[in-house]
Formats: sequence, structure tokens, C-alpha cells
Amino acid sequence: AGQTAKQYVQSVYDTVIRRNPHESEFHQAVKEILDSLIPVFEKHSKYMNHGILERIVEPERAITFRVPWVDDSGKVQVNRGYRVQFNSAIGPYKGGLRFHPSVNASIIKFLGFEQIFKNSLTGQPIGGGKGGSDFDPKGKSDNEIMRFTQSFMTELYKYIGPDIDVPAGDIGVGAREIGYMFGQYKRIRGHEAGVLTGKGLGYGGSLTRTEATGYGCVYFVNEMLKFKGLSFEDSTVIVSGSGNVSIYAIEKAQQLGAKVVACSDSNGYVYDPDGINLKTVKRLKEVERNRISEYVKEHPHAVYSEGCEDIWSIKCDIALPCATQNEINEEAAKTLVANGVKAIGEGANMPSTLEAIEVFLNNHVLFGPAKAANAGGVAVSALEMSQNSMRLSWSFEEVDAKLHQIMKNIYESSVMAAEEYGHPGNLVVGANIAGFLRVANAMLSQGIV
Ligand code: GLU
Repeated sequence: AGQTAKQYVQSVYDTVIRRNPHESEFHQAVKEILDSLIPVFEKHSKYMNHGILERIVEPERAITFRVPWVDDSGKVQVNRGYRVQFNSAIGPYKGGLRFHPSVNASIIKFLGFEQIFKNSLTGQPIGGGKGGSDFDPKGKSDNEIMRFTQSFMTELYKYIGPDIDVPAGDIGVGAREIGYMFGQYKRIRGHEAGVLTGKGLGYGGSLTRTEATGYGCVYFVNEMLKFKGLSFEDSTVIVSGSGNVSIYAIEKAQQLGAKVVACSDSNGYVYDPDGINLKTVKRLKEVERNRISEYVKEHPHAVYSEGCEDIWSIKCDIALPCATQNEINEEAAKTLVANGVKAIGEGANMPSTLEAIEVFLNNHVLFGPAKAANAGGVAVSALEMSQNSMRLSWSFEEVDAKLHQIMKNIYESSVMAAEEYGHPGNLVVGANIAGFLRVANAMLSQGIV
């Protein structure tokens, strides 16, 4: 009682730190959201009085499990599996699975927490969740990938279902892994199309799902640019990463007339002053599962550099960080600003540090935060669920049109929330508030659960 909104938010944040020690990524994601919500609590005390915030920062359920598998040499390997079911106020838990050696409780919690607000922003009936493993797919044979994913699903199946929790891909999990996991789930539980999204087109997948995150990110940035009378046409763009998000961000940016001059992987980046040849990148990454350094063998005028940070020192109009969390720090942000960057669209989850975001906002760079800008992937996952329930499939054009409209709606609602709560033009605050309100209102209606 008598607490100001600021004190309230601080007390919830202190509890998060105490309860989740040493989980810096989770703390970072929580801090960004909580600070944005202060104007909401100042305006409407009902959101402070029902423990909404105390409940929203605590996962409804978090599962950790052993994933044993046998490698090609006959050796037993053990990895750790995770599924965090964060919030189901507006629908079944929904969110990807990440297979990467950096995966730990903090990474999965930050991703699951972000997913609550992102999924809410899409306007679709999906709650927030995330999962994954510290398994490293790099250098593994196809058989090893299959044995690992089957073992992973042999435990995960107990906690998921089309109306309970619907996983999909994230870093290290694409159509191949989803296929093997779907096959294993089917052996145990039977054919339930809606249990996973990102499925192959031949067995319940949705057209445009592969393209959705990258296309959606460009659609979102395009809305930001339009408002300032700018466009992708003839602009110079940097896209970090070269995975599923990056490839389709590059494709859509090029379709809109941009010149994309750089992309990267975890080893280094390629600078191609003539514009990245996407056909080469697609073949290297989607077919051969090769390194991006191979690009320069076919395009000798392009330059490959070891390490990923320097990609941000290339002069550009628009930067789309589509690789991983915290890939843009304060220094990289300052370099981008000094080189005249006009817009940032976050294709990855939390690619900018809190300090980097400050730099962008203080310098009036158009900034599309991850929750809003990369929501296209999960939005089309929700459309895949709809199609599975109806046992039909929409055309590419139909799904793409729905995706485009969803990205416009996210932009509009973020702009409006930012305006209404006293931070005009700040889409970080706007997206966080708009995402929060839908979940908070559902939680209010459903009582203390
Ligand atoms: N992993 C993606 C994300 O970060 C997609 C999740 C999904 O489609 O469920 O939003």
C-alpha cells in the first residue's frame, strides 16, 4: 500500500533476481518489460492490485529433463532438455525449441518470457512458452540428429499437445528436426497435426511459415520507414546471421529494391559490395549446411572476415540483426549511429543490449524491437494451427497477405500504446505495453490462477 508504480516494479524485479540468481539474460528481458510498464501502473492501479506482474514473471511450469542418445561411434551422450510453460492466459503455450550449446535455464526463460508478449501482439490466441537443449547440432550426422530429436521427444511428449503446448523451431531446429520430432510424437500418441508447427508442407505444414519471420521483419520495418517517408528502395542493408530468419529477410528486402551488402554466421561475416547473392547463401546454408566463409570462393570480389562484431561497422541505412541475443552492444550501436543508420529491425530475439537500445532511441533511429518485428514467425505458426484444426491449407498468397496485415496491426497497436502512455514514437515501450495489456486483461478475467 502507498507504493508508487516505480517502487512496485522495483520490488517485483528484486524478487526475480533473488529467485533466479545468475540468469543475466532473463533479468535483462524482465528489466526491459518492467520499466516500460510503469506508465500503465501509474494510470490504472487495477493492474498493480491483482498480482499480475508477480504472476507474469513466474513460469506456470518449467520442465528440465535428461536426453540420452548414442553417437555414431557408439558412445552414450547426455544432454539437458528444457520446456518452460510461461503463460497460458490467452491460449495454449506456444514457442520454439532452440538446440545450441549456449542453451541454459536463463536463455530459455528469457525467450519464454519474451514469447508471452510477442504472441499477444500477434492478436492470435497463443500463450507463451519456449524450450530446447544444450545439444550442438554442428557437425552431427543426420542419424545423430534423428536419434537425439527422438530421445528429446520421448520425454517432451508428456507435456505437449495441440491444445496444451505447441512447440516449433528456433536456432538449430528447422524442418528436418521438426519432422523427426513429429514422427516420434506420432508413434507415441498418434497423428495429431497441431502438436508442432513449422512442419513440412506434405504433412500439415503451412505455406509461408519458412519465410514468415524474415518477411515479417521487413514488413514491420517498412511500416516504420513509410511513416518517415523512407523505403527499402535503393537503401543499403546489413543482415546479420544466415539462418532461416536472415535468408528470408534478405529475400524480402531485395524484392523491395534494397541492396543487402553483408550477412554472417557464428564464425564471421561476408561483405559483398555488389549485393549478397542469395542463391549462393541458400544453397550453402539450406542444402549443404556449410559455413558462410565458402561464399567468397564463388564470389571472389566479396570479402570474408573472421568474427561477427565488425559487421556493424559497415556503413548502412538499415540494419537487421537476425543472428542471436546481445549481438549489438553499446559500442556497435554507436558505430551504426555514427555511420548514419536510419532504422533497426530486430529479427533475432533480444539482439540489442539495453545500452544499445538507449543509444538508438536517444539518436532518433527508427527502432523495431524483437517482440514486434520478429513476431511474423509465430504468427504464421498460429495460422498453421488454425489450418490444422480445419484440416485445410491456404495458398501462399493468402497466408502472406494475413502475415502482412498482422505485421501492420502490430505496428499500429505499438504506435498507439506508445502515444497513449506518454512515449510517442518509442516502439519498445509501445510493443511492451500493447503485448502486456491483452495478457493482463485475460488474467484479470480469469481470477487468481
Ligand atoms: N522461435 C520463433 C520465435 O522466436 C517461432 C516460435 C513459433 O513459431 O512457435 O518466435
